[in-house]
Order: sequence, then structure tokens, then C-alpha cells
Amino acid sequence: MIVMKSECSQKDIDEVVDVIKRWGLDTHLSQGEEHTVIGVVGDTRKVKQEYFFHFESIERIVPISRPYKIASREFIPRSSSFSLDGVEMGAEGVVLIAGPCSVESRSQILETAQAVLEAGGHALRGGAFKPRTSPYSFQGMGEEGLQYLAEAREKTGLPIVTEVMSPEQIPLICQYADVLQIGARNMQNYTLLHAVGASQHPVLIKRGMSATVEELLMAAEYILSHGNRRVILCERGIRTFENSTRNTTDINAIPVLKELTHLPVILDPSHSTGNWKYVTAIARAGIAAGADGLIVEVHPHPQEALSDGGQSLTPERFQTMIREVRQISEAVGRSLAPSKAGNQ
Ligand code: PEP
Ligand code: MN
Repeated sequence: MIVMKSECSQKDIDEVVDVIKRWGLDTHLSQGEEHTVIGVVGDTRKVKQEYFFHFESIERIVPISRPYKIASREFIPRSSSFSLDGVEMGAEGVVLIAGPCSVESRSQILETAQAVLEAGGHALRGGAFKPRTSPYSFQGMGEEGLQYLAEAREKTGLPIVTEVMSPEQIPLICQYADVLQIGARNMQNYTLLHAVGASQHPVLIKRGMSATVEELLMAAEYILSHGNRRVILCERGIRTFENSTRNTTDINAIPVLKELTHLPVILDPSHSTGNWKYVTAIARAGIAAGADGLIVEVHPHPQEALSDGGQSLTPERFQTMIREVRQISEAVGRSLAPSKAGNQ
């Protein structure tokens, strides 16, 4: 990481960047209030620091100790925030993404979207391509499901979050959705990470069920290093010896991630517990621990859901969850992001 002097000019910056490129490395500029920082990305072992001593425009060179670079707070100290179609993610306001596990029919997704909007949710989730453990389980509605999601956005104004399972699906999904979700099972699918890194859409990446926090950050680094800076990290529970719940919510991961990275961090209390009865309690815990948002499964008729009905909140329970999460966010000096319902 090269910290430029505060009075340096654009020409000084370009000169340093040129030299780095000649070493065959990549640069990522970060313009702070006082300093411009040039992140040098790639195999930096071959770069001799002495070479930069000749540049008077350089204030200092700081090696980044973490294996992930662009994702680290060392590189970008200030928390990143960006807009998801008008909803600011990573800012002071807590963002609530909600919807069914899978899009099952036009009426199901339209009904859910309306309920999410009215309850005060900020974005709609719903899988059209589903990564199911069993090949015999419902695999999702594919493009038809995406069309219904887009219609739900038109009617409610809620941005759409949906999972992408392979690089070939990206152009299609980008036509309909606002945020590309990378599922836990694909967290280390590097071809897919590369491909979403090259896309212009924000990416929500879920932690693999057996992945460490560092592995999650390295996965995010793949996306960032391919040029996409809008990455949201999601804790969705990990596998442990405990089997009274589907997964174990690693609540520790939230403050740990907030310390290590500037990227927004959200929690999925639905998959982390696997049971609607625990979802609200863990949602509260996540916001108390410092999460920037939640992604929660909501279904108007959970008993009829084609996937994850047992962990889905009804719209009424979702309303209760929001009320409680609002109180918790205020108790920790935050608030809920402005509701989209007011804009309708
Ligand atoms: C989902 O969000 O419905 C999902 C499949 O989640 P995960 O990838 O975390 O299992
Ligand atoms: Mn699900």
C-alpha cells in the first residue's frame, strides 16, 4: 500500500501507477480526504521498495499483512457503502432483505413482495435457480421465476436479490435482478467469483458452511480483484457438532468481519437456525452484534413452501421481527434504513 503525500498531483499518481504496472502488478486507487492510497495488488514479492524511494510524491509504503488486500480495513479504513437501487447498504441504516427461499409462482412472489414492502423491508429475495442438496428436490423456476421477480420489483420498487449458480446464468440474471447472490455452496467456486467480479451488479456472498472467516474474505477478494467493488458479506451459520439447529450462527463472525474489512456485513438468521421460532431472536442478536442488515426468509403460507418452509416467517411474524430489530438498532446507535413503502 503506497500512501501518497497530501499535496501530490494527478501526474505524480499516474507516474507511480505506471511503474507498478510495469512490474506486471495491478493497482487500486483509494482517494481519502487527506491522502490518495495506491494499493498494489498481485505478487508484490518481486517489487523492490527501494525503487520507490526516488518518488518525492510518496509519503510512505505500508505492507498489508493480511492475505486479502482490497477487502481489508488496512487498505480502506472507512466502511464501504453503496446503493442497491436507492437503498444504502453499509451506511448507518440497517437494511432488511426478505422474501421466500424460492420463487414458486407469480401470485406467491407478488403477495410476498407486497407484504415485505408494507412491513418495512428494503429488498426482495427469492431464488429462481436453487442449489438443492437433493437432485430430486424443487430446483427453482428458472427464467420464469426471474420474470416474476422483475414484475414484483415493478409493482413495489423493491430491488431484487437472487442466486446465481454458474457464470452462464449471469447475463440472464442481470437482466432481471439487482444483486447477485453467491450461495454458501459456491463460496469457493472461483470461476463463478471471477465472473461476478467482472459484472457490474452488486454481489452478496454467503459464507460457506465450513469456511473460515479468512476464506470468506479471500472469496470476496476474488470478486474485488476482478473490478467489482460492491460486495456484501453474509454470515449464514456454520456446521458444528451441535444438531439442535440446522446450523450454528457464528455471531462472533460479525464483529470480527467488521474489524477486518470495510465491506458491509449482514446476517441470515433463517439458514443459520433453520427454524422460524429462533429467527427473530437471532436477527436481534445479529443487529446487536453490529450487522449492517439481515436477509430473512418470508413466505405467506410457509406450510406450503417448496423449500425452507420450516424456517420461513409469515408476514405477521416478519412485522414483529422488524419492530424488535428497530428497537435493537436504535439501542446500538443505528436505525432502520428509510422504508421504500413511503415512496409508493
Ligand atoms: C438461500 O439463500 O436460499 C440459500 C440456499 O442459502 P445458503 O446458500 O446460505 O444455503
Ligand atoms: Mn433457503
